[in-house]
Amino acid sequence: MCGIVGYTGTENARKILIEGLKILEYRGYDSAGIGLVSETDFQLARVKGRVEGLNEIRINGEFTCGIGHTRWATHGEPSVENAHPHRVGRVTLVHNGIIENYQELKKELEGEGVVFNSQTDTEVACALFDKYYDGSTHPCVAIYKAISRLKGSFAFALMFKGYEGRLFGLRHKSPLLVGKGKTGMHLASDLTALLPYTDTYTLLEEGEVVELRASESIFYSYDGIYDPVWHHSSLSYESCKKGGYDHYMLKEINEQPEAIEKTISPRINGGLPDFSSDGITKELFDGIKCVHIVGCGSAYNVGLIGARLIEEHAKISASAFVASEYRYSPPQNMQGALVIAISQSGETADTLASVRYARLCGCPVISVINARESSIARESSRIIYTHAGPEIAVATTKCFSAQLSIMYLFSIFMGTCKGRLTDATARELTEGMLRCSSTISRRLKGAGELLELSKSLSGASSAFFIGRGLDYFMCLEGALKLKEISYINAQAYQAGELKHGTISLIENGTPVISLMTEKRLFDKTLSNLKETKSRGASTVCFLAKTEKSPQECGDFNIFLKGNSFIESLFDQLVCLQLLSYHVARLRGCDIDKPRNLAKSVTVE
Ligand code: GLU
Repeated sequence: MCGIVGYTGTENARKILIEGLKILEYRGYDSAGIGLVSETDFQLARVKGRVEGLNEIRINGEFTCGIGHTRWATHGEPSVENAHPHRVGRVTLVHNGIIENYQELKKELEGEGVVFNSQTDTEVACALFDKYYDGSTHPCVAIYKAISRLKGSFAFALMFKGYEGRLFGLRHKSPLLVGKGKTGMHLASDLTALLPYTDTYTLLEEGEVVELRASESIFYSYDGIYDPVWHHSSLSYESCKKGGYDHYMLKEINEQPEAIEKTISPRINGGLPDFSSDGITKELFDGIKCVHIVGCGSAYNVGLIGARLIEEHAKISASAFVASEYRYSPPQNMQGALVIAISQSGETADTLASVRYARLCGCPVISVINARESSIARESSRIIYTHAGPEIAVATTKCFSAQLSIMYLFSIFMGTCKGRLTDATARELTEGMLRCSSTISRRLKGAGELLELSKSLSGASSAFFIGRGLDYFMCLEGALKLKEISYINAQAYQAGELKHGTISLIENGTPVISLMTEKRLFDKTLSNLKETKSRGASTVCFLAKTEKSPQECGDFNIFLKGNSFIESLFDQLVCLQLLSYHVARLRGCDIDKPRNLAKSVTVE
């Protein structure tokens, strides 16, 4: 959350900063701002709302050094006053994170005469840096003094008076990358914002400070100056563009066959799952008594499905946990637990904290991550990278699919390693996964019926998703997607649970969407759907192959493609994504940037 950029070089900094902020806008869009300096001048431009607004602000002069920010407000409403950069005395900065002890620091600083102009925690940090910066010693002295007093999470890009043309960067828990460009040096919260200028980058370590000049970077740690390891990204800037689609979300939905293909192919060998290229072999499971999967939002939903699959295929107890709960209320017995952390960005604050807790307990941690060089990846025992490419839309689609394909293969892999699945069964299950890409490609070629269905749903104020078994977990994801981008109050229920209270909400025309890929539970779920129909619901069924005629099912039926359970599950997922997309579009919603949300949640 919050996107930070910085540039010092020989080119027009304003242009470069705004371009970078546009790429990072998915991290927050409550306000945007840039601060530009030269030897003789300083200019600040801040707007409430989108980055685009910065183009309207007149800035006199040419600048080649500056910092920028796109905000997801935590402390203080979205407003120009609360927008970053903040400037106190001789320090200007942008911040990603939360300063937890800002109130006590604010009192102290106010007592010393500082007058604050915003409600943010960030401005307090800025005043603290200024307090310790006397202009005669190097800024690093002030930086280290100030950070020893800050609690919480932060990534800062700073500029100090007297050091015009230089940028300073540091981080604690929140991410910050340094890019080595052709025309200068860059700072950014994530790699995508560096891609228009360079593929050479390094992730700043915790406790380190970087000082950037136009053609030089100096990295400081507590032990002195050091040389960082520079990486080369294989991602292209093109892959971060909309590529002719109206929305990133639609582009990313359509990229799923490729994302799945790229993710699973390195992990299938001789028709069977094989994670040895990720350093995961049979031995890792020795002494493992249970599996804990942690994640937030959609990643948690993947975790729920993954846990059920592991129990089914490996016959070992597995549970999914919301990371923000796991970190503070973990299971009593951590002994023998294998922990799997799922996070698209690898920076999700609560998931990172859960990983740290699990490591402290001595548990092996496998992380399933899409972005490279992330904090969670660094702290895990093993990393399984999904190869979905950059995901820009706030609502996840292709990363969910890639994570799900990993969890499916992993459950089969664990089943074979533990001798709970025969090779023949494992091979058959894996074959189903191998067909998923082409199954969903067929769906993507002809999704007209979903458009039709979305027309009837677009006027609804609420909707219910019901299902049993794995379908229930998919209901959670379907409802979340619809809520997230169309603002329809969508709720997911276990199909058998509705009649224990919630059925009282069903009125004439209330949409009830029933997911029915679990064949063994088909008739049970159908009965539950009929119960809602009898009370006036407008019913929709997602059906895998069935003997039932459409008349016996819902008012509207979508027949899922594929010859195996996993294919139907993936097809169902894609249908739910498309349904949410079309409903949100018909309702005129801002699909890629839904209100109040941001991607990559780096705050608790
Ligand atoms: N706490 C800062 C603010 O509200 C930064 C928020 C963030 O990084 O999400 O402005």
